Formats: sequence, C-alpha cells, structure tokens
Amino acid sequence: MSLIPVFDGHNDTIQHIGEGKRSFFRRGAKGHVDLPRAQEGGLIGSCFAIFCPDPDEDIAQMAKAGFDLSEKKKHPSPPLEFSYAYNSMVDQLLGLYTIVGNSDGEVAIVRTTDDIRYNMGSDVFSIEIHMEGADAIDDDLDSLEWLYMAGLRSLGIVWSRPNNFGTGVPIKRSGSPDVGPGLTDLGKALVRACNEMGIMIDVSHLNEKGFWDVATTTTKPLVATHSNANALSPAVRNLTDKQLDAVRDSNGLVGINYHCGFLRKDCFSNPAETSLSLIADHLVYIADRNGIDGVALGSDFDGAAMPGDLKDAAGMPRLMDELRSRGFDDDALRKIGYENWLRVFDATWVR
Ligand SMILES: [Zn+2]
Repeated sequence: MSLIPVFDGHNDTIQHIGEGKRSFFRRGAKGHVDLPRAQEGGLIGSCFAIFCPDPDEDIAQMAKAGFDLSEKKKHPSPPLEFSYAYNSMVDQLLGLYTIVGNSDGEVAIVRTTDDIRYNMGSDVFSIEIHMEGADAIDDDLDSLEWLYMAGLRSLGIVWSRPNNFGTGVPIKRSGSPDVGPGLTDLGKALVRACNEMGIMIDVSHLNEKGFWDVATTTTKPLVATHSNANALSPAVRNLTDKQLDAVRDSNGLVGINYHCGFLRKDCFSNPAETSLSLIADHLVYIADRNGIDGVALGSDFDGAAMPGDLKDAAGMPRLMDELRSRGFDDDALRKIGYENWLRVFDATWVR
C-alpha cells in the first residue's frame, strides 16, 4: 500500500539538530524526526517550531530556591527576557537555514502553498517556519517584517508562559483552559498585523480568554496546530467543545497532537502504556464535530512523549492503518494528511 503523504503541523526538531546534537540527515534512534525517518513515514514536510526554552539559569535558580522541578510544568513558565528570547530565536532560525544549506537540495523552506506542492512533486522536504511564542518580537512589531521575509508563516502568540502579547496555559494540568487574562492590546495588534502580512495565527498553548480574543479579532480561520479534545483528555492544553465549535464556524483546523499526556483521559504521560489508537480517538471526535475538512495532524514530534507503538516519524504508516480501520478512505486520509493544511495556509497566507 502506498504511503499517505503527511504534512505535519508541528515539531520541535530544530532544538535537537546541529553541532554536538543529532544530524538531520542520518537515521538516528533518538528523538522522533530526521530526514530518513520522515521519508519512511511519508512526511512531505512540517511546521518547524522556533521555541525559546526556559533559560538554564532560571531553572538552576528555581532548584536553589527549593522549588520542586517535577511540579514545574503544572505552572506557567516565567516570562523571558527579550534579548535572551531574540538570540535564541535567531540561533534556531539559522539552524533551519543550515539544514537547507547542507541538504543538497533535498530540503527547502516554503513561503507559499505552491512551494509545498512543487516540493511534493520533486521529493523535496518542506520546512514551514513557525514561532511558538512571540517573546522575541518587539512591541513595535518591527521584527515581524524581516521574519516574514525570512520565511515566517505561522505564529503562536504564546508558549506556556505569559509575554507582552498574551498568556499561555501550563503544560501539565488538567481542567479548564480558562486560566489568566486575555490578549493585551499589543496582542490584538499582533493578530491584526499577522492577518495583514499573511502569517497564520496558532492558538495552541493560548489560554481561553486569549483564544476568544483571537476569535473576535482575526479575519482568518482559527487554527490550533497541535491540540486535542478536552472532552477526551482534560489537559488544559486541549480545546473545549465550545472552542472546537468556534474553530469549525471559522472554517479553521485542528492538528492532532500525539503527546501521551494530551491523549489520555488521566493526562499521564506514559508512552509504554499509551497506544496510537488514542490519536485516532481524538481525530474521530473532532472529525465528527468539525467535519473531515476540520482536522489534520500536528504531532509535536521532538517536543513530547509519543505513544510506544508509534515511536517516531517512521511509525506514521501504523497510524494511517489505524485510521483506515476506523473507516477513513484514502481521499479522507489525504485531507487529514496534508490537503487540509494547504487549505488553511492558502486562506491565511494571502496578503
Ligand atoms: Zn507546543
């Protein structure tokens, strides 16, 4: 059976690639994505997140102050200092360009859906540049212009921390995503600027008030690149039914996240005892509510704990087999795999 092409809505791979880290071009056993494993799994490309981790000094200081670090992810991370976030963002952007430069033409950064289609037909792997949190964007939004020119095509206003634009939800907590205030005026200005420039806004990680502020501010479809159904797994990172309805009504899209803690009913991150069938459960739930055009894939590869029977990007055909067993035919799988992403890119990348 031929592979279903998959454009993946979210990975955190770039943080793990480079000098002293993994190679993108050699098949590795660690982590989830490199080019050989992506090709084995049918991946034609992915949104690569630029994500600024908590600084080591902050974590060391928390430990010194007696803070239980195992509890850290139950709380939002502290805000980042701008210069730290900016430098971290530039390093990762250069990392993505370095992959392309070292790829002998096998990998390219995409700016249009025509780029993705062209690459697909030429066996070139597509990198879409995503920023997970606007922490590195200045209050005047000047950096947005050059980032757009550098290829930025999607932006999560926040990661799981507050910044000048909005507030994110903690990673490891169950319950309602209604934690903290909505977007700031600057956050709303950022949404409008992204609408005008053709940068897709991502509501994954955003708290509920922020979500509704995006919903009433944006002129484009609502998109959650890597979130699941709160009704099946009550992690605060997952979307409530009301939020899913708003995504549907905006002609938007949800990319299913494979993180065990966002799949399971008990929200425990337990790869050995978590099956990829739960990915299918969330996908079926959202497809039933929002239609087959309203659901796609947003793995969170290299940023989360994958179900043991999926393991990594090379395991994608096993997920497709599971989805076939749930009644999705090849036309439906192609929509879920990549066509739905192309649709919302077309709708949100127009200038
Ligand atoms: Zn994320």
